[in-house]
Amino acid sequence: MKGLLFVISAPAGCGKDTILNELFKKTDTAGYAVSATTRAPREGEVNGVHYHFLTREEFEHKIAEKEVLEYTEYCGSYYGTLRKSVDDLINQSKDAILKIEVEGAMNIRRMFPEACLVFILPPSWEVLEKRLRDRGTETEEKIVERTKQARTEIKYAENYDYLIVNDKLDEAVDDLLAVLRAEKLRRSRSDELLNSFGEGGKA
Ligand code: 5GP
Repeated sequence: MKGLLFVISAPAGCGKDTILNELFKKTDTAGYAVSATTRAPREGEVNGVHYHFLTREEFEHKIAEKEVLEYTEYCGSYYGTLRKSVDDLINQSKDAILKIEVEGAMNIRRMFPEACLVFILPPSWEVLEKRLRDRGTETEEKIVERTKQARTEIKYAENYDYLIVNDKLDEAVDDLLAVLRAEKLRRSRSDELLNSFGEGGKA
């Protein structure tokens, strides 16, 4: 069976990076489809692992060459899903996990209706604001801006297949693992299995 396509979206402060880091410790049947971006690397980020860091010219060249499945401009930088990142995983029979913002997710849904979309929510607005403050890296103005942005992004959650509340990290990771497993068991993805019983599995 070929790997499946999963899209994970969440507003800043919902813990999606932490959830995915923990997920990849627990499963090797899924891999992270590394995106390309023109934003500068943050401390600790490695080219080719967290993102492929490109110049605007390089990014635009990839768009022209149709190497980018979807892309967006977010806070003044390009972000895009590389066709190759996804193909490499799927062809190794691994599930490809895309960590992308809401509009990119909607584009993926249009292109690949069978993709599974997962949205991660904070337990409440209060907790989200507290998490943003506790990071201690942002000014009050930025925190207000990010909270406003989160409110806009959460409106898209109704278009997703699964919602996971990140209250306790372990439970959120287990929930995501459960989604990955459940999606593999869908009848619609198992025609081959039914066919192996003959006549499409009919009695
Ligand atoms: P950050 O700069 O914090 O790494 O990412 C900013 C936002 O861009 C996040 O919401 C992240 O999920 C999103 N993002 C990262 N890669 C892609 C991509 O390839 N396509 C789209 N549409 N969004 C992305």
